[in-house]
Amino acid sequence: MRIELGPRDIENGKVVLVRRDTGEKMAVAREGIKETVARTLEEITEDMAKRARERFEARIHSASTADEVHQVYREKGGVIKTLWCGEESCGKEMEEIAGIDILGILDEEAEGACAGCGREAREVILLSRTY
Ligand SMILES: [Zn+2]
Repeated sequence: MRIELGPRDIENGKVVLVRRDTGEKMAVAREGIKETVARTLEEITEDMAKRARERFEARIHSASTADEVHQVYREKGGVIKTLWCGEESCGKEMEEIAGIDILGILDEEAEGACAGCGREAREVILLSRTY
């Protein structure tokens, strides 16, 4: 954030806050400036986290079989979301077929069939390339 303070601002008891992330300018009262700056910085942090989350979510694609995981990853890249029964051997097989690795388990209800073996799924997982 940038703070602008010109002769006229001083005269009027104002300060101009400029958000460096959006370029938005706000003329605010000099009184209570500490709180205004703190609140604005908090908003900037929240907005940045939201944008990062949206960018990440836009890179997640769904697939329902190991072959599809492989195909979708080849076409779109990013991260693939699918269902898994939780069996280690099945997970390893799925990683081999898809050519990518299980990154982690999401805190979501798994409804449907495991992409690896077709049995009832227990977990929702994310797969991608690990470096
Ligand atoms: Zn399975």
